[in-house]
Amino acid sequence: MVGRVPVGGDAPVSIQSMTTTKTADVDGTLAQIYALAAAGCDIVRCTCNEEAAAEALAQIVPRSPVPIVADIHFQHKLALGALEAGVHALRLNPGNIRKPEHIKLVAAEAKARGVPIRIGVNAGSLDPAMAERHGGITAEAMVASAMHELDLFREVDFDDVKISVKASSVPLMIDAYRLLSETTDHPLHLGVTEAGVMPHGLIKGVAGIATLLAEGIGDTIRFSLTADPVEEAKTGRTLLEAMGLRERKGLDLIACPSCGRAEVDVIRVATEAQAALEARSIPLQVAVMGCVVNGPGEAREADLGIAAGRGKGHLFVKGQVVRVVPEAEMVAALIDEAERIMAEGIEARLAAADPNAAAIADATRDELLQIQGVDANHSAERIQKIREIAE
Ligand code: SF4
Repeated sequence: MVGRVPVGGDAPVSIQSMTTTKTADVDGTLAQIYALAAAGCDIVRCTCNEEAAAEALAQIVPRSPVPIVADIHFQHKLALGALEAGVHALRLNPGNIRKPEHIKLVAAEAKARGVPIRIGVNAGSLDPAMAERHGGITAEAMVASAMHELDLFREVDFDDVKISVKASSVPLMIDAYRLLSETTDHPLHLGVTEAGVMPHGLIKGVAGIATLLAEGIGDTIRFSLTADPVEEAKTGRTLLEAMGLRERKGLDLIACPSCGRAEVDVIRVATEAQAALEARSIPLQVAVMGCVVNGPGEAREADLGIAAGRGKGHLFVKGQVVRVVPEAEMVAALIDEAERIMAEGIEARLAAADPNAAAIADATRDELLQIQGVDANHSAERIQKIREIAE
């Protein structure tokens, strides 16, 4: 347990991020922690790099909506200070706190307080002696570093531990975690460290973290992006929801990639809809589709959607067209319908559908197909046939 958040075993994979404020700035740090929690972050880490930071943690921890982990490098005394401040967990880097007596002292104090520790090995700060023994910065060297730390913890009978073996190289990180998962049953914290700016950092993070999660490896994750940490939390949440590892908590806006059939600027409509729905915290799956030819059918699983065609927006609920509005009102109509669904429910909105809407959508679809030189009925039959085969 990290505070009230379970990590490992059958617990849901949790999302972590780290504040970028000076921890000594209590109000600034708490503001960022609240923003992270609102974005879906389960656990937040704060650096504890000076005495003032340890003192500030004593004020931050009781006011935080999520458990706080103190990040410790080099100075074991700051780990003791963070424990005194009441943090829910510590992260120690075995690459830069190397004296066994210091490590054991911290572990014994953590044990006395019932506080877990993450052994956070980073390829970039690996103990040089460990690298030399294992042929450089290799997966074996990183895992050996973590196991060495674990052995020291065991000497003081402490094993409330999770482990990370992060690297900025995705293949190295994947190898290290695979080896670690074969070596130990401790919960694993996944991450590609120093992944970089968007979109490259995001792609590297997804490549490493998703690969391992798909293999059943990993209990908690952090995207290390050179970006606002709120983006890290959102990214982590989105990845876990996309992989079916966490239930959807908020909006899931799906949008077609657009193509030559598009009857509207899909990027603009989707971007405006995403911002407006997020601002209203609408927790629905909403589709923005570029044309009514394919849109309502392709996105029929979505709670709500809109598809363009011949200057109109065709609003659909669970694949059924319920209203047709002028194109200029597409986003406003989508927001209005989303709010009505939240207030009245899907069934009520289906019952309140404009009886002419589906016929108008069909006519528009046929018109578009004829313009494109396709026989509408033949096409509809073909689509139906394909669906039957698929099902
Ligand atoms: S929904 Fe229409 S516009 Fe969008 S990708 Fe499909 S065919 Fe193209």
